[in-house]
Amino acid sequence: MRSVVTGGAGFLGSHLCDALLARGDEVVCLDNLITGNADNIAHHIGNSKFRFIQHDVTEYIALEGPVDNVLHFASPASPIDYLKLPIQTLKVGSLGTHKALGLAKAKGARLLLASTSEVYGDPQVHPQPESYWGHVNPIGYRGVYDEAKRFAEAMTMAYHRVHGVETRIVRIFNSFGPRMRLADGRALPNFLCQALQGEDITVFGDGSQTRSFTYMADTVAGIIKLLESNEHDPVNIGNPQEMSILAFAQLIIEMTGSRSKLVRLPFPPEFKDDPKVRQPDITRARRILGWEPKHTIREGLVPTIAYFRKRLAL
Ligand code: UDP
Repeated sequence: MRSVVTGGAGFLGSHLCDALLARGDEVVCLDNLITGNADNIAHHIGNSKFRFIQHDVTEYIALEGPVDNVLHFASPASPIDYLKLPIQTLKVGSLGTHKALGLAKAKGARLLLASTSEVYGDPQVHPQPESYWGHVNPIGYRGVYDEAKRFAEAMTMAYHRVHGVETRIVRIFNSFGPRMRLADGRALPNFLCQALQGEDITVFGDGSQTRSFTYMADTVAGIIKLLESNEHDPVNIGNPQEMSILAFAQLIIEMTGSRSKLVRLPFPPEFKDDPKVRQPDITRARRILGWEPKHTIREGLVPTIAYFRKRLAL
């Protein structure tokens, strides 16, 4: 098997490269490194089964030789990125998905699209099953990500229906683990950096908004199972263990042994339209893939905290 991972130097993309190499694939990693980091794949440099190409996947992807799988993971993925890189976010979800699908079609490869729980927007159905169409503000700050991913899903289904491309769509819920960017602005990196450096923990709003955090090893295992399945319809991958952001901040203080204090701040502009609740309904993943998360949030936080400690000590 020869697999191409776009965004392969990012947080999830790089863990996916590891998993594909571990199952014996040759891996071609494409990344323009605007939010990815070459350090995430440095351990594979020199491995003859691994190749890194610095490339912007919104441009034509020219690759020699056969390709069996294209996994499209390139995208900024945090609210501060959407504020700083709105056009890049829209382009990689639309033009980048088109190029990735074009590559898959030309090579007769299978394409797996990294979609997101953000397609559900600020959901009015809870928990969210794949059949829910979502509640998205197209012109809000987050709209650039949500709408690009919704377009990407539409484009992927069109390539499947019109060109017969073998496609898979995974809707990924909040995932965490080593290799997350320290300054990516999301709750977990912010809280961990703040807790480990003795700074105030910044909870936006009253902290009653909820998320369901998934350890990346579970996310990656679900993605590989979906890739190997025959399912064309979207599949949620996430841990249904839901908690409030306030409880999450308290858990991080407890697990890091920090003396940091919690402070409540008004939502910054990029967090307007912040989903109030989020929890995956994983009935479909359980039934079709026989997948469910194996790690609790606490278990996943142990290696994640160790990673953040190490990076902050540099
Ligand atoms: N959040 C927060 N403090 C921060 C960063 C985020 O309270 O320093 C909140 C944010 O408003 C949201 C939740 O944490 O309600 C999760 O935000 P994140 O950006 O991690 O993920 P997403 O909203 O994309 O799920």
